Amino acid sequence: MTEPAKAKVEMEKLVSLCRRRGFIFPSSEIYGGLSSCWDYGPLGVELKRNIKDAWWRAMVQQRDDMVGLDSSILMHPRTWEASGHVQGFSDPLVECKSCHLRWRSDELESDKCPECGGELTEPRLFNLMFKTFIGPVEDDASVVYLRPETAQGMFVNFENVLNTTRKRLPFGIAQVGKSFRNEVTTGNFIFRSREFEQMEIEYFVKPETDKQWFDYWVEERINWYVSLGIKRENLKLRPHTKEELAHYARECSDINYLFPMGWAELEGIANRGDFDLVQHAKSSGKTLSYYDEEAKEHIVPYIIEPSAGVDRTFLALLCDAYDEDEAEGEKRVLLHLHPDIAPIKAAVLPLSRKEHLASFAREIYADLRKHWMVSYDDAQSIGRRYRRQDEIGTPFCVTVDFESLDDKQVTIRERDSLRQIRVPIDSLKATLRAKLGGEDLFVLPDGGKIWKE
Ligand code: ATP
Repeated sequence: MTEPAKAKVEMEKLVSLCRRRGFIFPSSEIYGGLSSCWDYGPLGVELKRNIKDAWWRAMVQQRDDMVGLDSSILMHPRTWEASGHVQGFSDPLVECKSCHLRWRSDELESDKCPECGGELTEPRLFNLMFKTFIGPVEDDASVVYLRPETAQGMFVNFENVLNTTRKRLPFGIAQVGKSFRNEVTTGNFIFRSREFEQMEIEYFVKPETDKQWFDYWVEERINWYVSLGIKRENLKLRPHTKEELAHYARECSDINYLFPMGWAELEGIANRGDFDLVQHAKSSGKTLSYYDEEAKEHIVPYIIEPSAGVDRTFLALLCDAYDEDEAEGEKRVLLHLHPDIAPIKAAVLPLSRKEHLASFAREIYADLRKHWMVSYDDAQSIGRRYRRQDEIGTPFCVTVDFESLDDKQVTIRERDSLRQIRVPIDSLKATLRAKLGGEDLFVLPDGGKIWKE
């Protein structure tokens, strides 16, 4: 029998690293935290922005067939009636009669409370949308919902986008933004929280080409994760069976990742058919269709939806990048983050705090930070400073020593291999740019030399 696959890092280690180095804190921690809500700290916010930027670059900026959107979180309540969320977006819940904890009945293995063994109530449906009120009066007429997905903003703007961009099929609308779900089972750190961010695409196609575009997007999205450094063997496609397909879907596949708690969904890709445009057309009374010049007829496009989570991508990238090894005779924790994703691209480290060296190093720092997120660190021994950068995934350290004042050269140390080169300061920017772009460290600029193999 083959061993079940196991992730290489436990969740506790990631949680502890994220806390210790300022990636992620519990929300409103001084008040004891708020269940399943998280705050991204100084390094976390950079990493998260890098994920969203990488997605936007690949999915919008570098494509002819995609445009962006930023729709509002609060939408007309009829949106959620038409989409089926008011009626259907609910989990069956049971409550323990003694400790009153609630559980998803479809996830329970026995008919007793997992916490205290108590007797459970009959299942009851529980809507996952957060409700609030718009305007000054809190009555039924002013109820609005915090969106549980960004998708609906793109469906209701289909006509606006079509009319203003004159896109032809196939084309997509892409959006990144916050979504909210009053999840029943939360936990596993940022894997399932009540406020999270999504990166979604609604890709409109001619109905007869849906299968081909579904397959295209499955492959495209897997390749995107791999391009950011996620190992292919840690990704697995899980097609949904007919029975588990959502009410709107004709076909659906999850891209699963091997998280510390096991294989779980990173992204869902669905063929939604014409469900959404038909529903919103019916409910709003507007015609939501596309004039096909070739066939000379109006058609309702089918929609392929690759829907990814920013927070789950964050977690997957951390899991994949986490490593422990030995460097310069000491144990170290390091994150092998792809340079595009690393919160800090390079750290400038003067060997001493002596004024003439410090001001020289600060000039180099000031110049580099015009181009990248760069940090400056002059506290403690150089070994300690290298370790600190390794632990947050900084791909390169630029060391400024006393010789640099005379020879106008600095050393560049590579996080993963520990190799070093020495390069003229004049070519430092170009060299860093090339190395961040993937060039081998030992491809040297004019006047550069290998410093440490
Ligand atoms: P799950 O069954 O794991 O809760 P889902 O199938 O409900 O996920 P979708 O509705 O397909 O999720 O949402 C698309 C993507 O949004 C998911 O693949 C995931 O990356 C992200 N996502 C959904 N719910 C959450 C959540 N509560 N916390 C963090 N990310 C989420």
